[in-house]
Amino acid sequence: HAKSQGRGTFCNFDAKMQVEAEERVRLEHDMRDAIGTEQFNLLYQPLVSTQTQRVTGFEALLRWNHPTRGPISPAVFIPIAEESGLVGELGDWVMRKACMDAAHWPDDITVAVNVSPLQLVIPSLPNDVADALKKARLSANRLEIEVTESVFMSGAGNALDVLKRLRSLGSGIALDDFGTGYSSLGYLNKAVFHKLKIDGSFVREAAEREETVSIIKAIVMLANSFRLTITAEGIETADDFNRMRELGCHQLQGYLFGRPMPLEKTLEIVGSKWEHRQVG
Ligand code: C2E
Ligand code: MG
Ligand code: MG
Ligand code: MG
Repeated sequence: HAKSQGRGTFCNFDAKMQVEAEERVRLEHDMRDAIGTEQFNLLYQPLVSTQTQRVTGFEALLRWNHPTRGPISPAVFIPIAEESGLVGELGDWVMRKACMDAAHWPDDITVAVNVSPLQLVIPSLPNDVADALKKARLSANRLEIEVTESVFMSGAGNALDVLKRLRSLGSGIALDDFGTGYSSLGYLNKAVFHKLKIDGSFVREAAEREETVSIIKAIVMLANSFRLTITAEGIETADDFNRMRELGCHQLQGYLFGRPMPLEKTLEIVGSKWEHRQVG
């Protein structure tokens, strides 16, 4: 009895995997035609200075509005783009669009663009980025490239060299989602990163666990010793704001300051000071 139940479970699992595989193939197929059309668009989420409470820049976040399925999360479609080899084309579109959009903001406002580890192995990437900046007439120091720790584990052996080339264009390189992967502390002192983004999961946990606060303190100390800008992601409440400010973060990002928004909306809030009655 137990055995047949086990087999049945296994069969269901198999069938489920089959359905998922077909789903991926379909999405991959749809994505191929959707890149460059209005199905894809960028939203922008503000980053706010802890000191001045002003917007210092925006992170570009990609959205796919599928004609029949509706909105699909980047957590779902980016992995498909990566596995199907489409992430290069998609990423290049994102870079060009983000640079063009950023040219609408004042000169001291930056744009952060997420770059997949698989884009770092495309030999033309540094030239493509330089070209995107040039076409948009955007100064390289207005661009921040965000990569996650997985860049050092994806078999992209020369990831560090590529990042250095991007840095030498004059752009910033941020280490995103810090603390969620196999935190490669050794990479922090390679003089390639200018910013460290503490993952939102730490911000949430810090509200309940003193141990997490200790970890954040250690991260802040380490990052400061390498002269990195420290950004905390996932700030949702005034308590998060106050806690992360007291822990020494330089910039904050999260729903408290604004959800990812269309370009037109960014033009309304850029330059204004963020105020909240609960934050003292
Ligand atoms: P990420 O780069 O770490 O971006 C931050 C994510 O946290 C975004 O999710 C953002 O909407 C969300 N977020 C911001 N504030 C809060 C908050 O206060 N609370 C919570 N719970 N979440 C918050 P999103 O837009 O769904 O993007 C997910 C991930 O997809 C991104 O994580 C990034 O890794 C990837 N991604 C997005 N756009 C692109 C892109 O153009 N290229 C590549 N390669 N990856 C992208
Ligand atoms: Mg990011
Ligand atoms: Mg992040
Ligand atoms: Mg993330």
